[in-house]
Amino acid sequence: MAFKKETNCVQAGYTPENGEPRVLPIYQSTTYKYDSSEHLGKLFDLEAPGHMYSRISNPTVSSVEEKINVLEGGVGALCTTSGQAANLLAILNITSTGDNFVSLSSIYGGTINLFAVTLKRLGIEVRFITPEMTDEEVEGLFDDRTRLVFGETIANPALDVLDIEKYAKLAHKHNIPLVVDNTFATPVLCTPISFGADIVVHSTTKYMDGQATVVGGVIVDSGNFDWTCGKFPELCEPDESYHGVVYTRDFGKAAYITKARVQLMRDFGVLPPAISAFLLNAGLTTLHLRMERHSENALKVAKYLEANDMISWVNYPGLESSKDYELCKKYLPNGASGVISFGIKGGREAATKFMDSLKLAAIVVHVADARTCVLHPASTTHRQLTDEQLVAAGISADLIRMSIGIENVDDIIEDIKQALDKVQK
Ligand SMILES: *Cc1c(COP(=O)(O)O)cnc(C)c1O
Repeated sequence: MAFKKETNCVQAGYTPENGEPRVLPIYQSTTYKYDSSEHLGKLFDLEAPGHMYSRISNPTVSSVEEKINVLEGGVGALCTTSGQAANLLAILNITSTGDNFVSLSSIYGGTINLFAVTLKRLGIEVRFITPEMTDEEVEGLFDDRTRLVFGETIANPALDVLDIEKYAKLAHKHNIPLVVDNTFATPVLCTPISFGADIVVHSTTKYMDGQATVVGGVIVDSGNFDWTCGKFPELCEPDESYHGVVYTRDFGKAAYITKARVQLMRDFGVLPPAISAFLLNAGLTTLHLRMERHSENALKVAKYLEANDMISWVNYPGLESSKDYELCKKYLPNGASGVISFGIKGGREAATKFMDSLKLAAIVVHVADARTCVLHPASTTHRQLTDEQLVAAGISADLIRMSIGIENVDDIIEDIKQALDKVQK
């Protein structure tokens, strides 16, 4: 029986049998026991399902992977120790030295570093695009070594909304997949696979956990992309490290996510500990309720700021004044999530005074948890970026990113009001 997403947030991924614990247990074990060496041999040859070693999989982690997989509508998911690790594995799974990929430029600063610095050192080149570019301009960057297109549903911190259908069509025209980072939207507000995305990644550190307790990430495979199209030999040719397993032949629709686990997770070892998966699961249980409140509160705060004389601009995709309002209506009809950005008149100095005067909203590096918080990206998360990269990432020097929590919205607005009063003095 297929359930709705609210039910899946609460129940998916773990169904206890008669007399088993009602709550997902923490399987704190690196190791698993077998009745015969033959069975273990089959596990090593990927001929039987089951757990081998907690660097590759673990029952607690698997349950949470399945919950997220069900929420996103995929054929399989793989949890990682961070969002960065999820993006790294998602891309390395289908690229090698000499390959390149195309990415929207307004994405998370850490991801820009990963793409433009670290992957570059491995000989994998990122080619950045903007939503303003025409299809011809974007396609002009594609060549026969281009392996994927990457973007964020709601860009952190620029808050651009990705036209998922458009970039999926463009990628598919060239027989390459669209990889979407769905961190800010979460599957509660948007399921990129339903709009044509092939692979979905998350930093689960943000809303999915929602309590700011565990850093983590996840990769979800839609199962929809045809890897046999000629561009992805690593999925279609024998893997010598598994006696000639051919992922597309032996695992069908789950080829991509199986390879990511048995090859990359085996070699890099970035599976989260069982306790982290347990905490993430606790967060996911209330995700549907929280995303609704985050979105509601953020829209009210955005409207309050927009009407305030001391604010020079407000960016929130749920505002009618947003350049992405139409995209927001299409991709985020039930709410535009909890992050807003704005500038205060008086630039950098006023921004600092404002932030230092807040009482309820805390200055933290984090975003997207239950507690309202603020950050000045230009001097913190994005300080490694050059001025040109800052502009390309959609960040100005006066930009304040505010992550609206699930407290009473009147208290949040009251806090902003008193801090603005202090700036004026
Ligand atoms: C935070 C974030 C990441 C990185 O995730 P970590 O869990 O911090 O490693 C990637 N993408 C987006 C959109 C993020 O917000």
